Amino acid sequence: WRWGFSLAGELRQAAARDPNRVAVIDDRRGPVTYAELLHRSEQLARSLRSAAGIGSGDRIGLLCRNHAGMVEAMVAGTLLGADTVLINTGLSSAQLSVVAVEQRLRLLIHDAEFADRVVEVPAQVERIEESRAEELTAGAPPGELRPPERDGRTIVLTSGTTGTPKGARRRTPGGFGPLVSIIHRIPLHARDRIMIAAPLFHTWGYAALQVSFALRATVVLERRFEPNSLLGAVTRHNCRALFAVPVMLQRLLEVPPPAKNPLRIVAVSGSALPGGLSTRFMDAYGEVLYNLYGSTEASWVSIATPANLRIAPQTAGKPPHGTKVSILDEKGEPVPRGQVGRIFAGNEMIFEGYTSGASRETLDGLISTGDLGFVNGDGLLFVAGRDDDMIVSGGENVFPSEVENLLADLPQVREVAVVGVPDPEFGQRLAAYVALHQGEALDADAVREYVKRYRARFCVPRDVYFVPFLPRNATGKVVTRDLPRPR
Ligand code: ATP
Repeated sequence: WRWGFSLAGELRQAAARDPNRVAVIDDRRGPVTYAELLHRSEQLARSLRSAAGIGSGDRIGLLCRNHAGMVEAMVAGTLLGADTVLINTGLSSAQLSVVAVEQRLRLLIHDAEFADRVVEVPAQVERIEESRAEELTAGAPPGELRPPERDGRTIVLTSGTTGTPKGARRRTPGGFGPLVSIIHRIPLHARDRIMIAAPLFHTWGYAALQVSFALRATVVLERRFEPNSLLGAVTRHNCRALFAVPVMLQRLLEVPPPAKNPLRIVAVSGSALPGGLSTRFMDAYGEVLYNLYGSTEASWVSIATPANLRIAPQTAGKPPHGTKVSILDEKGEPVPRGQVGRIFAGNEMIFEGYTSGASRETLDGLISTGDLGFVNGDGLLFVAGRDDDMIVSGGENVFPSEVENLLADLPQVREVAVVGVPDPEFGQRLAAYVALHQGEALDADAVREYVKRYRARFCVPRDVYFVPFLPRNATGKVVTRDLPRPR
C-alpha cells in the first residue's frame, strides 16, 4: 500500500496495470473498464476546460444517482484541479439553491431526472445535464491534460439531518490509513465484485468507491434501490460484497433472499442499526454483517464484525488501527468504562474544516463526533445517539435509541422513532412514531405497557402516533423535522 489516496491517481494506476479489468458495471451502460473510465474522465475534463473554462480551484457540483457518469465527473474534476462537491439527491429545489450559493459552484452536473429541481439554482451556475456531459465526453478536443496547479478536492456534504448540509473539506490525496484499516477489518479481496448501494454522494458511498478502486475491484451500481432488483444484480454479477445503509437491510428482509447467495460481506454505515436488525439479517444471510460508525467529519470511528454483532447486536465495534476514540465528560476528562460520555475520535482522515470556515470542537487532535456513547468491558463501543437528541424529561435523561430499540423488538413494529416534545410539566415528554408491518395491529396503550414493563416510568412515551412510514434521508436517518406534527 502507498500512502496518499486520490481517485484519479488510483484510476491512472489501475488503467496502466489492469486496463481491461472492469471498473464499473452500470445498470444502463453495462461494463466499463478501468482504461475506458480513465479515458472518458480525461475527455470530459478536457471538454469542461475548453467549453466552460473550468480549472484549478473551481467548484463543480454533482447531483447524481449512483452510475458510471458520476464517477467520471468526480475524476474529471480532480484531473482539472477543481473541487467536486457531492450533493445529496434528496435536497429540495430551495435547498439546492442554498447549497449552490454557499458552495460557490461554477458548474452543476446533474442527472436528467433532476432537471425540474435545478431550475431555481442561480443563473451564474452553469447547468449541465447528463446527456450534455455525454456529448462533451464524446466530442472532447484533442490534446493532453496538463497536471493541475493544485490537487482537486472532494467536498462531501453532511446529511443535513440537523439543518442545511454542511460542506466538509477533505484533502485529495487524503491519508490512506483508515482505508487500509477498513480492509484490514473487513475481509475484502483484491478484484472483488462490490455492489455499492449506499449513495456515492454520501461519505460512506464515497469511501466504498475509494476502497473498491484501491482493490481494483469491480463496482456494481444501480440508480435506484429496490430490494428485488438489487438482489437480482448481486446474483447476476456474483457480488461478494454489498455496501449499504441500515434501512436497506430492513427492506431486503421483506423479500426472499436469493437461492444461491454470493454475498460474504454486507457492510452498513450512515445511521444506527435499528434494534434486532443485525440478528435478523444474519439469521437470513449468514455471518456477513459489518457495522461501521463514522461521520462526514470524523471519517471512520469504529467497525463491528459479525462476531461482535452476534455478542452485542447493537455495537459499533472497535476503532480500526490508526484511529483513537475517547469518551469524555463535559470537562473533557475521560469517563470510566461503561459510563456514557461524548465520543471524540481522531485519525489522519478527519476533515480539514467546513467550507463555511466553521469548525468542530477539538481536543488533543480528536474531534467531537456530536454523539454520546460508551465503551463496555470488552472494549466495544455503543453509540447512544446524538448529543442534541437526548431527551430530558422531568430531570431524567432518556436516549431515544433506548426506547426505539426496545419497541423495534415488538413483532408488529416495522420501524419506530422516539423524539422529545415540549411539556409544560416535565420540560419534555416522549413521543413515539410507530409504523407497523402490513396487516398488523397495535394500540397506543399496548405500546406504553410494553415500555413500562422493561424501562423506567420516564421512558414511557406519553404520545404514540401510528404512521404509515417514517421520513428518512438518503442515509436512512429519520428526519425528525418532517415527522407529522401532533395537534
Ligand atoms: P448533519 O451534520 O448535517 O446534521 P449528519 O450528521 O446526519 O448531518 P453524517 O456525517 O452523514 O451527517 O452522519 C454522521 C452521524 O450518523 C454520526 O455522527 C452518527 O450520529 C450517525 N451514525 C453513522 N453511522 C452510525 C452507526 N454505525 N451507528 C450509529 N450511528 C451512526
